[in-house]
Amino acid sequence: MFGSMMHQQLTVSSQLAHAARYHADTEVVSVETTGGVERTNWGQVEQNARQLASALESLGLEKGARCATIAWNNRRHLEIYFGVAGAGMICHTINPRLFPEQLIYIINHAKDQVLFLDATFLPVAAKLGEHLKTVKHVVLMGPRNEEFAAQVPNLKFYDELVASGDADYVWPEIDENTPSSLCYTSGTTGNPKGVLYSHRSTVLHSLAGNQPDGLAISARDTVMPVVPMFHVNAWGVPYIAAANGCKLVMPGPNMDGASLANLIDDEKITLALGVPTIWLGLLAALEEKGSTAPSLERTVIGGSACPPSMIETFRDKYDCTVIHAWGMTETSPLGTVNNLLQKHDALSVEEQNKIREGQGRPPFGVELRLVDDEGHILPHDGVTQGELQIRGHWIVENYFMVEESALTIDGWFDTGDVATVDPDGYMIIRDRSKDIIKSGGEWISTVELENIAVGHPAIANAAAIAARHEKWDERPVIIALLAEGQSVSEEELLAYYDGKIAKWQIPDKVIFTDALPIGGTGKVLKNKLREQYGECLIEG
Ligand code: ADP
Repeated sequence: MFGSMMHQQLTVSSQLAHAARYHADTEVVSVETTGGVERTNWGQVEQNARQLASALESLGLEKGARCATIAWNNRRHLEIYFGVAGAGMICHTINPRLFPEQLIYIINHAKDQVLFLDATFLPVAAKLGEHLKTVKHVVLMGPRNEEFAAQVPNLKFYDELVASGDADYVWPEIDENTPSSLCYTSGTTGNPKGVLYSHRSTVLHSLAGNQPDGLAISARDTVMPVVPMFHVNAWGVPYIAAANGCKLVMPGPNMDGASLANLIDDEKITLALGVPTIWLGLLAALEEKGSTAPSLERTVIGGSACPPSMIETFRDKYDCTVIHAWGMTETSPLGTVNNLLQKHDALSVEEQNKIREGQGRPPFGVELRLVDDEGHILPHDGVTQGELQIRGHWIVENYFMVEESALTIDGWFDTGDVATVDPDGYMIIRDRSKDIIKSGGEWISTVELENIAVGHPAIANAAAIAARHEKWDERPVIIALLAEGQSVSEEELLAYYDGKIAKWQIPDKVIFTDALPIGGTGKVLKNKLREQYGECLIEG
């Protein structure tokens, strides 16, 4: 016997249809790639998305066709997200900062048939041209432009494509297990692998991730996802925003601190989401501008560890709560989100802050566990460190076009992160297993070393790496970027660690640099640093 309730498919098109039905005039603001700010609304976004779906069908594309994007966060990209998936096709978002060989690999591997491009990336596409085996249509995301048309043969223009679509197109009923989008891991630790999300996993992720103890985005919010739409579906924000009808602000190509600070003030953003490296620039720009960002109530930070000093600055200077979150491409991405429990009201502010520094707790729908090297399950006591594994409704089962399962024999996904979990489920990432420093048989967390360095007023950013050592196998070295106009010596910075961690964990060396290598999703590329400085203790 079954329950006797209606059964409807969980689809992303139904999320956008909801936005159009009940929040049609709520604004969607978008910084254009060619400059200027464009204002539209959910009603128009849905209309365009349906017309796009219809136009793609008219091009002869079938359900399951992969349509790739190399684009910034803007409203056309938003329409593509929903238009492509709503038609039963697959929106494949690509990180534009990959090397040309990686782009070619990914596009051919995914068998993309359409390539949507922002003008910025036209030169990249023009170079790839002959290497792309499956792409039938290249679409520039804008109005017709003859100069662009001259650069790529048979270039199509997004605005014309949408205009050619049927205004009365009706979203087809699709099975919720149909794939909706595809994202490749950013490949900081190996070859890019595709993760194919379904409508169902995406909708469940947005419902569960947006609980009051999750991102808690409401129709009263003005939300700015600075996290790119090619970085794990902008952490699900486009879907959450549609289902909740909030005002959405898309920052376009301008990811510098000053542009973001101005947008926050001009558009009265209440919630912004981004990675720590970009937020360092934002904080510096707010300081320079002399703005207290009065509208900003909350900011979600993830992608790499948020330094405690950043949480403090947002709280004390900007009266803004940091919600620290953890996830990965394979987890859609929300795995944990950090909000306090009722019992924490009784704690001192310092104790509460300590809890906020961790990566938070899993929402309903995902579970965590810790295991040791042999796969034995470890206790959730807040102290024991182990390999973090996860399972749930929006966690990968196997990589795209890879038959074998990505899971352990008993059905868990191994994240490659080393963590602790306490009895309430609060998880703290100690390191990635590939980054962690193994010194004389003991582990040293690079995250902890970096957090301390970034807490020093003269340091703008820092990365800790394992350098090879004759006696201890590996010892920590800090690569540090000075804040503008500041100076600190190696001795002073090392002395700053005194009393904050055990003596044997203090780095052996500080190397000052003018720039840290940053990947397309805003993470420091530690493998590059290891290549460059991994032998510095041997030579020295
Ligand atoms: P890639 O694995 O290619 O870097 P992802 O964007 O999927 O691409 O990265 C996921 C990884 O990023 C996680 O496994 C974890 O190591 C790291 N990460 C994400 N969020 C956090 C966080 N809040 N704190 C620490 N590390 C994080």
